Amino acid sequence: MAQVKKNPNFQRYLDLSKADLKLPSLTEDISLLNKGYCTIEVGERYCRVEDCGNATLFTSTNNLRKHVQKQHPEVSLTGEEFGGRPCQADEFQFFNEIMEAYDEREAAKEEILPKLPLKNDRSVHITKMRQAVRSMKLPVPCEVCKDTDQPKLCCHDEVKGTCEHFGLFTDPRNQQGQEYVPSEDEA
Ligand SMILES: [Zn+2]
Ligand SMILES: [Zn+2]
Repeated sequence: MAQVKKNPNFQRYLDLSKADLKLPSLTEDISLLNKGYCTIEVGERYCRVEDCGNATLFTSTNNLRKHVQKQHPEVSLTGEEFGGRPCQADEFQFFNEIMEAYDEREAAKEEILPKLPLKNDRSVHITKMRQAVRSMKLPVPCEVCKDTDQPKLCCHDEVKGTCEHFGLFTDPRNQQGQEYVPSEDEA
């Protein structure tokens, strides 16, 4: 049994979705030994081939390898015959780095980004949002809304997916299982 299963960061990896993990894309090895080949780390379960939309947590690394071989025939994988199994330290390293990056992103979100101001009906409070944006010395509309010829829609829920300003806040509506309570000045 692989040592990696004893790593708490590996267990956390299994509990998170591929989207939340923001995994680095699989890249070709540049070392002489495995040049041109990609390595799937011991224990890996998510496909890291760039832009692969498959978000499945595979039941085993072997099933993940099968997916890559079948769906991404252009990718050559290293296997037992190329360099063999990584040593134990390496097994831990991949998952430690992934979770370290995840923790940093989560901490940055909570400490730095203010909550998106919402109205009682949970739609975005555009006036307050724009006030907050201006207080950060940023222009309204943002570059994207300006470039897409919808400057008036900037900071509206309709353009939530593209408007740059939504990236300046944490959206309480994205936090599942948590009831949103408006702060006193909004009530
Ligand atoms: Zn894939
Ligand atoms: Zn905008």
